[in-house]
Amino acid sequence: MARQVCIIGGGVIGLASAYALVRAGHEVTVIDARDTLGSETSFANGGQLSYRYVAPLADAGVPLQALGWLLRGDSPLKLRPRLDPQQWRWMAAFIAACRGSVNQRNAAHLLRLASLSQSTLQQWREDDCLDGFDWRRNGKLVTFRNAGSFEHARSKVTDILQQQVLSAADCARLEPALAGGGFVGGIYTPNEEVADCHAFCQRLAARLEASGRCRFVLGRKVTGIRHAEGGVQAIELGDEVMPVEHLVLAAGHRSAELRLPGLALPLYPLKGYSLSVPIGAQHQAPSVSITDYDRKIVYARIGEQLRIAAMVDIVGFDAGLEPKRLALIKRQALETFPTAGDYDHALEWAGMRPATPTGVPLIGASQYRNLWLNLGHGALGFTLACGSGQLLAELIGQRNPSIDMQGLTPCAA
Ligand SMILES: Cc1cc2nc3c(=O)[nH]c(=O)nc-3n(C[C@H](O)[C@H](O)[C@H](O)COP(=O)(O)OP(=O)(O)OC[C@H]3O[C@@H](n4cnc5c(N)ncnc54)[C@H](O)[C@@H]3O)c2cc1C
Repeated sequence: MARQVCIIGGGVIGLASAYALVRAGHEVTVIDARDTLGSETSFANGGQLSYRYVAPLADAGVPLQALGWLLRGDSPLKLRPRLDPQQWRWMAAFIAACRGSVNQRNAAHLLRLASLSQSTLQQWREDDCLDGFDWRRNGKLVTFRNAGSFEHARSKVTDILQQQVLSAADCARLEPALAGGGFVGGIYTPNEEVADCHAFCQRLAARLEASGRCRFVLGRKVTGIRHAEGGVQAIELGDEVMPVEHLVLAAGHRSAELRLPGLALPLYPLKGYSLSVPIGAQHQAPSVSITDYDRKIVYARIGEQLRIAAMVDIVGFDAGLEPKRLALIKRQALETFPTAGDYDHALEWAGMRPATPTGVPLIGASQYRNLWLNLGHGALGFTLACGSGQLLAELIGQRNPSIDMQGLTPCAA
């Protein structure tokens, strides 16, 4: 039976949900506070569809490592403690999730979801000829500067993920732009992909518009949700009240602002930065996606630009650009890829990863009968969007989900 579904949030998660719902025959309204879809955290992220590197940030040894980082001037992590219970609650829950066994369990849930996401995107590309977002299967090379971290990563390589251990010389052969050195080796995963997340959002929106089954309400902020008798009834857009049959909360890191009794969303924004560096004919940019493991910087060639993304800053909700953090990324990128592009004309950007402490998103039913969640995708929202949207459409349509939902549903979280 066709359902009427209203989605709060037109980022990659809300739009992938809308696309999956419309494909399944439902009618959708997408509401976004911004005038342009996909223009908040989904705008200039790392562009990596990193289907096999999904292990959550919370892991054994991370709190100790984080303390070391916080003492360094060139740290990929920054913490600005605030008088904000949300920040302290989140950090306490994060530390509680930093056990090896918890990390492994959550990584398994994410791997299942990532695999569904990869096959779902492939299906949409092939069945619907969805294109125009610089998608490529370019492989991903994780490079190591430190022999200890390389050895540790080697010990975890598995055939299941089709990973290959490469020497420093092999890395430079695979990706000649790396010839400058500084690395002791790398791990290559050939089936990883890359694309432009903002362009993907725009393409999904165009297809949704053309379907005749999706309506967009842009430049309107949802200010409240009305509820009664265990269900949600309507949303408030300032003075306007809009009745809803089914409501999906996919408002990224702002989802927790929309309060409902009993609904506690364990979300906090992890701020990150990116540079989009134009590539000209004279430049030598990497073609394979590169993760500089020890510096925590990712590089992806997206069309004619090199997207460089980095940093995890726990500093509150201010998404402003910090020149010092951007200068550090630029300096480190120039050391690694000095001739990759026109760094003087790079577009600077900051975004807020909508993170749960465990790194696992919340997808599916809430304690309100007709309120559904699709949020908390943290550092992997682009990677996990299509699978998350597909699962949500299946759950709302009362169909069996494509994968085991254990660990992914809000009720079990
Ligand atoms: C530096 C950086 C690099 C990253 N790199 C990668 C990567 O390489 N690969 C990857 O998979 N992921 C990456 N991510 C993560 C990814 O970008 C996010 O997980 C993803 O964009 C989250 O999508 P979303 O739809 O949940 O949130 P958003 O894109 O933020 O969308 C939420 C939308 O909800 C709207 N909204 C919020 N509140 C309201 C309201 N009250 N009323 C109406 N509308 C509202 C907002 O305007 C916004 O458009 C990166 C993130 C950062 C910051």
